[in-house]
Amino acid sequence: MIIAVDGPTASGKGTLARKLAEHYGLPYLDTGLLYRAVGRQVFLDGGDPDDGGDALAATTFPDAMLSDETLRSEETGGLASRVSVHPPVRQALFERQRQFADQPGGAILDGRDIGTIIAPDADVKLFVTASVDARAERRWKEMRERGLEADLAAIADEIRKRDERDANRADAPLRVAEGAFVIDTTAMTREQALAAAIEAIETARKA
Ligand code: C5P
Repeated sequence: MIIAVDGPTASGKGTLARKLAEHYGLPYLDTGLLYRAVGRQVFLDGGDPDDGGDALAATTFPDAMLSDETLRSEETGGLASRVSVHPPVRQALFERQRQFADQPGGAILDGRDIGTIIAPDADVKLFVTASVDARAERRWKEMRERGLEADLAAIADEIRKRDERDANRADAPLRVAEGAFVIDTTAMTREQALAAAIEAIETARKA
């Protein structure tokens, strides 16, 4: 079974996908990490994330980069969103994601274009979203818990910018895939979101 989980930044899709992977015993790939690694590599190379050539060169980042703590920062998330607009960068990362989806027994992947581009054949597609304010507050709390300085208004601003860039790019824009179940987690706890996702998956499996 292939499960595609898409949604905007800080929607809770990563947490949800991880829990679903555990529940169904499926391997899980956070595809945002690949774009974050490219963003980080451009930075380390002293390149320009808005330049397609520099961004493409950074897709050969070393595998060890994927477990680098700096990938989780807001700054790297912003770089990831800038390198991800270049079609050659998306192409360079396509095969890796597709191979992960094609494992015998299936897989769960989360990102922006899993249900639309990477695995349009997924057995179940989920689109996880929440209001900007709810997402900003969650990100703010998460950063505070990690002992990081955080400004709620600045986080909300950054989320808005990222939403806009991800939704308006020409190649693989963030949108709800055909046949996807939309889960709006604005007023849900993590447990409620998980229950809603499992219910959607079970409904899709019976169909
Ligand atoms: O999900 P995450 O916040 O880690 O993703 C970082 C950025 O990488 C996103 O803002 C988006 O621009 C890009 N991305 C993408 N396609 C994916 C996953 C992430 O374009 N499948």
